[in-house]
Amino acid sequence: MNDFVSKSAQAVGLTCNGDEFYGTLNGYQVSGRCYRMSTQFGVSVYLTLDLQMSIQFIAMNLLEGFPGIRVLSENGNGIAFRAAASPEASARIVLFLQQFTGMISSFTKGEACPLCGEPMDEGVCEVSSGVRRFKAHEACFERVGQEQTAKKTEEAPSVSSYVRGIAGALLGGLTGIAACALINMIGFASWIAMIFMPFFVMFLWEKLGGKNHVAKIVTMWIVSVVCFFAALVVGYTVIVAMALAQEGITDSAFEYFVFMIRTQEQFRNALLLDVSLSVAATLGSAAFMTVRAVTKERRTSSVLKKIS
Ligand SMILES: [Zn+2]
Repeated sequence: MNDFVSKSAQAVGLTCNGDEFYGTLNGYQVSGRCYRMSTQFGVSVYLTLDLQMSIQFIAMNLLEGFPGIRVLSENGNGIAFRAAASPEASARIVLFLQQFTGMISSFTKGEACPLCGEPMDEGVCEVSSGVRRFKAHEACFERVGQEQTAKKTEEAPSVSSYVRGIAGALLGGLTGIAACALINMIGFASWIAMIFMPFFVMFLWEKLGGKNHVAKIVTMWIVSVVCFFAALVVGYTVIVAMALAQEGITDSAFEYFVFMIRTQEQFRNALLLDVSLSVAATLGSAAFMTVRAVTKERRTSSVLKKIS
């Protein structure tokens, strides 16, 4: 274990075991684990949705004085943090936990079961949730376990959820193309619509009943890339058609488009800039949506396990 962590943990009476430390501070169950690149630790306490917000707010404020430490996640049974493996951050983890548990003691109950908020008199077992470990009612552990299993079954993708998800994704792609055409009516600016394209695709995938699954990410990329090309074609057709109408030319739109690229430097430059920005916008936005989907998946899958 990281020496800086174990020294300060032992000084306040926390148990150090292998890479783990745990015990109580100000009546709150705290625990953590040292990894090579970081130490992850947390406070286990029963939190309603309101309390989750307040506790995160307090943590953010307090963390301004603790460089190298940040909030990792929070849910109904606690909050977790990540500290850099540097000596400065490591040595101050326990100090942070002391101050933090002191600050939240006015509105949360430290001694209560983190799964229900009621006092723990009997039927207590030890469980782990992600990086945290804590004591809770055995009955609460069983109940949460059943809820998690039920939720998993509900979240499992089926053929119909794929079909609905893909239909939603295509609808999202069409929305993106339409937005592209509309925006191009005011000039070369397809890229603005491209930022929203992956968002439309994912949003409608979920809205129509698709599940949060790897297929969502794959579909989002395929639909976004295909619709990116379609949106360029549609978007530029709009621009050319408007120019044709304005100048009263009756040539074919495609021929006129090629003619413009060949002869008009300004047109060519505007086109190049828009295509480059569109590529960047699509890739950037799709990458962002991928990260978002993956972190959401990870957050919802922190499963409770029984230790003893
Ligand atoms: Zn309980």
